[in-house]
Amino acid sequence: MSERIIDFKKMDGLVPAIVQDALSGKVLMQGYMNEEALVKTKETKQVTFFSRSKNRLWTKGETSGNFMELVSISVDCDGDSILVKANPKGPVCHTGADTCFAEVNSSKIGFIDQLRAIIKDRKNNPTDKSYTASLFAKGINKVAQKVGEEAVEIVIEAKDDNKELFMGEAADLLYHYLVLLEAKGYELDEVMDVLIERHQKK
Ligand code: AMP
Ligand code: ZN
Ligand code: ZN
Ligand code: ZN
Repeated sequence: MSERIIDFKKMDGLVPAIVQDALSGKVLMQGYMNEEALVKTKETKQVTFFSRSKNRLWTKGETSGNFMELVSISVDCDGDSILVKANPKGPVCHTGADTCFAEVNSSKIGFIDQLRAIIKDRKNNPTDKSYTASLFAKGINKVAQKVGEEAVEIVIEAKDDNKELFMGEAADLLYHYLVLLEAKGYELDEVMDVLIERHQKK
């Protein structure tokens, strides 16, 4: 948890808290926390706000059961805003939507981070049943070769008009590409650094 301190006095006791899905990175909702709500959130590991309409502490999920399990808390640069990462146990919005910002939040790109974490875990904690673990066990050359095979397969599917087959090969290629990065011990962010640097040179 962060070393930064929240200045509740400056904020008249109430600080905005933005809740982000710990896995997908999606913005889930925003509420307000007083000091008591923050302490309760840390103690119970369930995200708790001070509700201005209810005029009391409100643990998200207290009636719906859709709790948000605390993962981490951080405080912004000047101590007047809180970022909470959490795992939601159900739809976060009272409308039944996954997030209160459903319209602006529809990208599934954050799943790549989840998949990368799973791939890393299969490398570090291999099991007999895991296909990913079996790839790592075969060594770097085999892992790299799979990327080549999937690249050839997507080339073949690109010539046809079968979207389902094309999507299958596109998914295979992305997965094996991520496995290769992990086998090399490199991060996807490092690839992004290269792309960003190239873009800035233009
Ligand atoms: P819950 O905390 O999910 O048990 O919901 C209890 C009540 O809190 C609901 O009836 C709504 O009035 C309110 N509520 C639930 N979720 C939200 C949200 N994401 N934003 C604002 N109010 C909410
Ligand atoms: Zn600030
Ligand atoms: Zn909502
Ligand atoms: Zn394939």
